[in-house]
Amino acid sequence: MRRQDDLQRHGIGMTSQRTRERLIQRLYEEGLSNPGVLEVIRRTPRHLFVDEALAHRAYEDTALPIGHNQTISQPYMVGRMTELLLAAGPLDKVLEIGTGSGYQTAVLAQLVERVFSVERIQALQDRAKERLAELNLRNVVFRWGDGWEGWNALGPYNGIIVTAAAANVPQALLDQLAPGGRMVIPVGSGDLQQLLLIVRDEHGGFTRHELDMVRFVPLLNGPLS
Ligand code: SAH
Repeated sequence: MRRQDDLQRHGIGMTSQRTRERLIQRLYEEGLSNPGVLEVIRRTPRHLFVDEALAHRAYEDTALPIGHNQTISQPYMVGRMTELLLAAGPLDKVLEIGTGSGYQTAVLAQLVERVFSVERIQALQDRAKERLAELNLRNVVFRWGDGWEGWNALGPYNGIIVTAAAANVPQALLDQLAPGGRMVIPVGSGDLQQLLLIVRDEHGGFTRHELDMVRFVPLLNGPLS
């Protein structure tokens, strides 16, 4: 029994390793280029962030269901948004709206000083917390609440990443962005939304860059247990 368990674990390990390499190769071909981001995606075990029944698909470049009508983001999109956040240099405080499975949180936690992550569905947040603890990622704090309000008490933030589509850019998030800070957010209410990069200059003005068309679940209103 013991031996079979070991073999099985080994077998899964081998598959994961090969499929992980293929995923990284594909992300590179699709245009991701920050070596630090690619390396972190390579070493982050995405199969731990989905149900066991879906673990064999964890290294496909696709979003997957995580329950409660939500999805774990596609690896390309996680990489793309992370690259955009980090493009002007390292960040110390990053606010994430939409913890979900915690996968994007785990990627960020390995690249920035501290992550502040807000989620409205408590059950998802509890599970995400457990996963990050298992991975020994300790520089993350979680809040159960409404992302439209951000997390004012601990702001401002040098980076803000929103992983659900907002009908418009939440004013609270603009207010909580530090001078020189960067926000990456999908905006729109249709099936497809537009990814925006919003940069706050040192005088408080905002520059808005309209980027890729993307597909996210909506940013809903209010916390929910
Ligand atoms: N980055 C996550 C993506 C999760 S999907 C991952 O890779 O797993 C988007 C998440 O945003 C869902 O968990 C959803 O519950 C959450 N969400 C939606 N509206 C929200 C709101 N107003 N405040 C906080 N979280 C919200």
